[in-house]
Amino acid sequence: MSLRILLLGGTTEALRLARDLPATAIYSLAGLGRVPDDLPCEVRVGGFGGAEGLAAFIREQGIELLLDLTHPYAAQISANAARAAELSGVACWALRRPGWQAGEGDDWREVDDWNGLVAALQDFRRPLFTLGREPLEHLHDIPPHQHWTVRCLTAQEGVPRATVIGARGPFDLHGERALFALLGIDVLISKNSGSQATEPKLQVARELGVPVLLLRRPELPRVSREFVQLEALWEALQRRLAEP
Ligand code: NAP
Repeated sequence: MSLRILLLGGTTEALRLARDLPATAIYSLAGLGRVPDDLPCEVRVGGFGGAEGLAAFIREQGIELLLDLTHPYAAQISANAARAAELSGVACWALRRPGWQAGEGDDWREVDDWNGLVAALQDFRRPLFTLGREPLEHLHDIPPHQHWTVRCLTAQEGVPRATVIGARGPFDLHGERALFALLGIDVLISKNSGSQATEPKLQVARELGVPVLLLRRPELPRVSREFVQLEALWEALQRRLAEP
């Protein structure tokens, strides 16, 4: 158990893995969300200063394996991780969580970026944004015929024609149904994170025939090993840790 690991996190899966890592591992967070204080491994918070900064950290700390379990839309840190691994000559393993797939009864429409989203939203009145903080930068641009509901980590009061809810997943089906009904949601906006923790909103949209606008996934770099499930990554890691 002496392999020196740096785990890049900020996701549910990363936190789960961090709970089982040896004390010699380091769990790294950007610092936007909650910082756990009950992990067996070391926790560090904040950016590294780009790929070069990350490579320098890897060298200074004697890191032997880099694990990228960041969010599928956190494209910058994943690019930095791949580059830093190259620069410092360590392996980088990544969890590349697959996106959700539309099924029968789904009306999903993909948009490229914020401008594409605004255009696609024009005919709706009561959108529910579940994208994180980005809509908060556009609260002064809400068209007169719309009332926005924005769900992100922190609530905000007193915004005309918007309800800004602070909430952290997982979200259950019962609560999501209640939210859609209470606010009369007629369109859902989401990233295609593929996370089970935030999937129930898609079922509610399907049940109600509410369209879903999905922000396109960013391209992520290829790394030494890629896993689609945490369990497979964990098993490979166990084997690696057992190597003499
Ligand atoms: P990003 O755009 O890819 O990264 C921006 C910068 O934040 C990076 O260049 C890096 O700074 C720093 N950073 C990001 N993750 C880090 C980590 N785990 N440890 C240390 N520094 C980190 O990322 P983002 O989309 O802002 O997301 C930030 C964090 O929130 C990520 O850890 C991600 O897993 C988590 N998260 C993101 C989303 C999302 O929708 N994007 C959703 C849930 C959770 P330097 O260049 O200075 O090193």
